[in-house]
Amino acid sequence: MQGFNKYYPPDYDPSQGSLNKVRGKHALGDRARKLDQGILITRFELPFNIWCGTCNNHIGMGVRYNAEKKKIGAYYSTPIFSFRCKCHLCDGWFEIQTDPKNTRYVVVSGARQKDEDWNPEDNGGFAIHDTEKESVEIDPLAALEKTTDAKRQMETVAKPRIESLQVVSEHYNSDPYSLSLKARKKFRDEKKVEQQKRKADDELKGRYGLPTTLSLLREDEKSVQEAKDLWSKAKVDHLGAKRRRTTIEVSSIPATTSARLPPSSSSKSSTLDSLRTQILQNTAKKSAVTRSLHNSTLRP
Ligand SMILES: [Zn+2]
Repeated sequence: MQGFNKYYPPDYDPSQGSLNKVRGKHALGDRARKLDQGILITRFELPFNIWCGTCNNHIGMGVRYNAEKKKIGAYYSTPIFSFRCKCHLCDGWFEIQTDPKNTRYVVVSGARQKDEDWNPEDNGGFAIHDTEKESVEIDPLAALEKTTDAKRQMETVAKPRIESLQVVSEHYNSDPYSLSLKARKKFRDEKKVEQQKRKADDELKGRYGLPTTLSLLREDEKSVQEAKDLWSKAKVDHLGAKRRRTTIEVSSIPATTSARLPPSSSSKSSTLDSLRTQILQNTAKKSAVTRSLHNSTLRP
C-alpha cells in the first residue's frame, strides 16, 4: 500500500492540493491501478471449495487472492460484484459473483464449485420450492375458473351469511333502551336475592364460627326435608343405643364382680372397675325404686 507516507517535502505547496494529488497517486495506491476500468483490487477469500478449470487442481475454501472486484449489475438496490482471481497453481483465471437474491456466491467461469450445500430433500426433509417462479406461470384459464368459483361461493354462502348476521345485529340494536331496562331489572332482582342469601349465610357462619371463605350449599325445600329426616333418625338411633348400652352393662355385671376380680389384674384397674360397678348398681337400684314408686302411684 502506498499513500500512507506523510512526508511533506520542503517545496510542497498546499494550494496544489493533497499530497497524493501532488504525487499523482491514489489513496489506495497500487490497488487502484485499474480504477479507470471500474476495477478495484481487493483481497478475496474463497467462500467454498473449487476445482480450477485450467489446471484441474482442488483449491480449498479460505484461500485468499488479490481479486479484481467490479460492479457488474444490481439486484434491486444491491450491487452485484464480480471477483476475478488468478489461480495460484497455474495462470488461469476464474470468476466468482455475488448473488444477493439467494445471499450466496456463484462461480461464473474458470472453475467448478464443489457442491456441498445441504439439501433437505436428500436428508429426509421437505423440498424447498421457488414460490416466486410458480406465481409467474399462471394458467389464465385456471385463474378464470378460480374467480368464477369465488364468485359462486360469495353468492351462495357468504352473502346469505352476512345478511343473516345483519338481521341479528339489527334485532339486538333496534331498541337498546328497552333491552337495557330489561337486563337491569333482572340484575336488580337477582342482586336482592343474592344479598339476602349472603346475609343468612354470614349469620350462620358467625353462629357456628365457620370460616368466612367457606361456601355454603343453597337451601331448598328438598335439602331442608332431607336434613330434618337425617336429624330425627340420628336422634332416635342415639337414644336407642344409649338405652341398650345401659341395660347390657347392668345385666352383664353381677353384684359380686368386685369380690371375684382375678388377682393378676393391676390394683388400679381393679379399684376403677369396682367403683364403676358400684355406681351402676346404685343407678339400677334407683331406677328400680322409681319404677316401683311410679307403679304404686299409678295403681288405684
Ligand atoms: Zn489453476
